[in-house]
Amino acid sequence: MFFDPLWLLMIAPAILLAIWAQGRVQSAYHRATQVPCSLTGAEAARLLLDSQGLHDVGIEETQGFLSDHYDPTQRVLRLSPGVYRGRNMAAAGIAAHEAGHAFQHAEQYAPLVLRNLAVPLASVGGNFGFWIVILGALMSSMALVWAGIVLFGAVVVFQLINLPVEFDASARAKRHLAVLGLADGEQLEAVDDVLSAAAWTYVAATLQAILTLLYFVLRFGGLGRSDD
Ligand SMILES: [Zn+2]
Repeated sequence: MFFDPLWLLMIAPAILLAIWAQGRVQSAYHRATQVPCSLTGAEAARLLLDSQGLHDVGIEETQGFLSDHYDPTQRVLRLSPGVYRGRNMAAAGIAAHEAGHAFQHAEQYAPLVLRNLAVPLASVGGNFGFWIVILGALMSSMALVWAGIVLFGAVVVFQLINLPVEFDASARAKRHLAVLGLADGEQLEAVDDVLSAAAWTYVAATLQAILTLLYFVLRFGGLGRSDD
């Protein structure tokens, strides 16, 4: 119903990067599942959490592939079946990354606090920003167009703050796995492969948000000028 070739042209780099990153995640994950670990992902996460005194942070199995996440409201790590049960470095790396988010939460790591503050606005901006811009364009209201653009800007802010949060969780994962003697040499390399590949998916998402914002500004931000 609404399609603009300029939009596709502008976000193409982000889409290509996202496809490339997804492929890299899949292949790195598959390779790392071939590198054995002495513990399952759930056991590794438990060991990491306990080593930092986070005995009360729970670990649960959840459905889906790579659906792993840390839930700060319930203070629980939700690990996908492959990660929860897997005795390999893909499972250990991802479980340790989620434990890294629990460490960030426990010490109120500033970028994480900022990211959580940005969530509500970014969610509104992601859902309605685009439609407010379109509505503003249809009504020839530049105020409404810019309100939509600023609202969508919250998505870009969220994605930008998310990058250090994710990079830091991965750095913590590698550090703790090494310190606890769960990974060294080839094992650490496998973990690094998986977590670096995952980091690229976040970079792709950030780029897509930035390019979409730029598209809104170029396509709709200058509409008023033709009336001058
Ligand atoms: Zn993460």
